[in-house]
Amino acid sequence: MIAAVGYKDKTIAVMGLGRTGLSAAKSLILGGAKVVAWDDNEDNCEAAATAGIECQDLCKRDWSDIAALILSPGIAHTHPKPHHVAELARAVNMPILGDTELFAQAINAIPKEDRPIVFGITGTNGKSTTTMLLTHILRECGHDAHAGGNIGRACLDLPAPQKGMIYVLELSSYQLELTQSLHCNGAILLNISPDHLDRHGGFEGYVAAKRRIFARQTKDDVAIISMDDPTSPGLCMHYKAQNAVQVVPISAQGMLSRGISAVAGKLYESDGHATHVRADISAAPALKGTHNGQNAAAAFAAARHVGVSAEGIATAMQNFAGLDHRMEMVGTLDGVVFINDSKATNADAVRQALGAYGNVYWIAGGQAKSGGLGDLAGAFDTVEAAFLIGEAQEVFAKQLKGKVKASLCDTLEVAVARAYEAARQSDAPSPVVLLSPACASFDQFTDFMARGAAFRAAFAGLEGAEQQKRPA
Ligand code: ADP
Repeated sequence: MIAAVGYKDKTIAVMGLGRTGLSAAKSLILGGAKVVAWDDNEDNCEAAATAGIECQDLCKRDWSDIAALILSPGIAHTHPKPHHVAELARAVNMPILGDTELFAQAINAIPKEDRPIVFGITGTNGKSTTTMLLTHILRECGHDAHAGGNIGRACLDLPAPQKGMIYVLELSSYQLELTQSLHCNGAILLNISPDHLDRHGGFEGYVAAKRRIFARQTKDDVAIISMDDPTSPGLCMHYKAQNAVQVVPISAQGMLSRGISAVAGKLYESDGHATHVRADISAAPALKGTHNGQNAAAAFAAARHVGVSAEGIATAMQNFAGLDHRMEMVGTLDGVVFINDSKATNADAVRQALGAYGNVYWIAGGQAKSGGLGDLAGAFDTVEAAFLIGEAQEVFAKQLKGKVKASLCDTLEVAVARAYEAARQSDAPSPVVLLSPACASFDQFTDFMARGAAFRAAFAGLEGAEQQKRPA
């Protein structure tokens, strides 16, 4: 665990006791602070109290002794409506920080020459995949690398900093908004497409949050930025023109004269004079699809920045196992392939999956996000039929009218059975039953992982099914 620095003997309020809040509270206590914590969910308070953290309702308590508020990234502090605790803190000009800020402060307190290296990874899609891919490459090539942040392990739960260590942090827009002093030696912006707009007061607010990842970078650092969406190239040009940081553009859509390109299954490195093929990603089982070309290009550029050889990276990419719930191969039954892409909660992620397969029997729906399927126009060529579930099913059926044959299935289990039946009876070669919902899961599941697990279970429940084993 990393101890918070600068809060010894101070009283700090922690609001939100999920994974990051708990770890922030523990880190503060380790650093000598007195913590008063709260969560609107009683079970979370109980779990925290059992772990020795003092819980008090922050809305009822006197704030005069509190020095700062640590807010969980899931709690709104500006839009659509600030949580009451955030309003209370603002009313007395109290700093509102996230756990990533505590991490940043702890690293900044170390003498410069002894600090570990920090990579930050953000973007609308691909953060987790790129975080794990980069960590895998660094480890395979002999580095002491640790992945954390918005990815299962809170950043303060990572091992205490040591010289030579590399932290690879997945950073969401929510986390970046609550972070002021993070210095990323390498910062990756994978892509930006509209998502979470309600929390940021619109697209501009969302982009502003993402840009914070570059805030404290200097000439020794690298900013790795995609050229493939309407917004990121403008930022890439901006940072190049500023000339305050080394900028490496990446693309999975075309060959760059300078930067890293993923084109037709190969990874190219170009320095403005020469271009070299560096890796064959078409042979890497877990890096299928154009979007994974983007993730691979980003991870390549980052690993190169810390001196990893191109050959080492290429080899490590081949044995990357990939992540569950992201275009995860679940199994094959009677020639029908089952793919779990439960993590695809927005249109851009779904577009990648629909584009990666042919003859798709597509399961979509859940709790709709703003825009619905609107942004997917033109991506339905590979879809044979859609099987809709959850709250969004009727709206989606309307949006698909005249484009894709769609049926309402209510539940995932029914959708899997019907999609399988339709795929089996089709004459199409290698039909694919694809769960790629374009929706949040919360109407029917606790999270996207539970939804993906339910998809696997529905597959396993089909007569004759045998689950595919993931490569180690
Ligand atoms: P994040 O952590 O940003 O949510 P993940 O790596 O978990 O990203 O992937 C989320 C979804 O987006 C999955 O459906 C995955 O197939 C898809 N995806 C992964 N990388 C990209 C990318 N670079 N561009 C678009 N979609 C992607």
